[in-house]
Amino acid sequence: MVDKLVTMNDYHKIPKLGFGVYQVPPDDTQRVVGDAFEVGYRHIDTAAGYRNELGVGRALKSSGLQRAEVFITTKLYNDSHGYQETLDAFEASSTALDLDYVDLYLIHWPRPTADRFVESWYAFEALRDQGRIRSIGVSNFRVPDLEKLAANSTTIPVVNQIELHPYFQQEELREYHLAHDILTESWSPIGQGAVLGEPLLAKIGKRYGKTAAQVVIRWHIDLGIIVIPKSSHRDRMAENFDVFDFSLTADEISSIRSLQTGQRTGFDPSEFEGLWN
Ligand code: NAD
Repeated sequence: MVDKLVTMNDYHKIPKLGFGVYQVPPDDTQRVVGDAFEVGYRHIDTAAGYRNELGVGRALKSSGLQRAEVFITTKLYNDSHGYQETLDAFEASSTALDLDYVDLYLIHWPRPTADRFVESWYAFEALRDQGRIRSIGVSNFRVPDLEKLAANSTTIPVVNQIELHPYFQQEELREYHLAHDILTESWSPIGQGAVLGEPLLAKIGKRYGKTAAQVVIRWHIDLGIIVIPKSSHRDRMAENFDVFDFSLTADEISSIRSLQTGQRTGFDPSEFEGLWN
């Protein structure tokens, strides 16, 4: 039996492969997430900033799945940094999702010029202690942000969700995470589709009867990274989920290292203060 779960530093488990809903329109979200559940996904990654938490909650309610079978992540919106602001924002997310608890709550961006994420983190700890959140983590944090958190709190984030794909491999952050018991979680794991034309990925895929997308998703998993690809199309959802019957060799993994270009697809956390992601 392939182990599809990984244990976080707080001893809760998270499915290695999840389904992201960034840019899924609110009106489509219930259908899209319902399809993802039918395909087999049990881990959904949403955010207050995606404005589609309501659809995620509705999809769960109508799926017939038990709450404990599903892992739901949501994120603190950029305009809600600060202690009380965070408590209020969590209340809104929790109401939209219609959940008694959230599995994982993330600070979506560090917002360096606002410089209030430590206050938000204290609210995260309080909500976790009240049982409203199981696990707490961060997203788009750079090494100095993680060090600032460590200097001000004894709670280590369970994950740091960052942009990571073959063009942007984040080796420095991955090493820091490994040394500090933080799991790396990749957003835009297939570079929003940009990496899929790479001949190397097709060549590797041919050996296993797999597509370039499946090779990239498996690459994340083989590196010990949690991965949350998105697609609104059911056939691609199924394709992206069908990655548990093969694995890459050490040579294949190191060959993919050569695809690194340093090219981001999304915002740079050192600069991004915006209200939407
Ligand atoms: P992604 O890398 O998952 O790419 C998604 C796009 O790739 C799809 O819209 C589709 O065009 C294409 N695609 C998907 N599967 C395919 C397949 N099998 N074959 C061909 N094309 C395929 O990009 P993403 O949606 O940006 O990232 C995934 C998730 O990460 C998001 O939905 C969201 O949950 C999360 N995310 C988080 C942040 C953050 O700041 N924390 C930022 C961006 C995304």
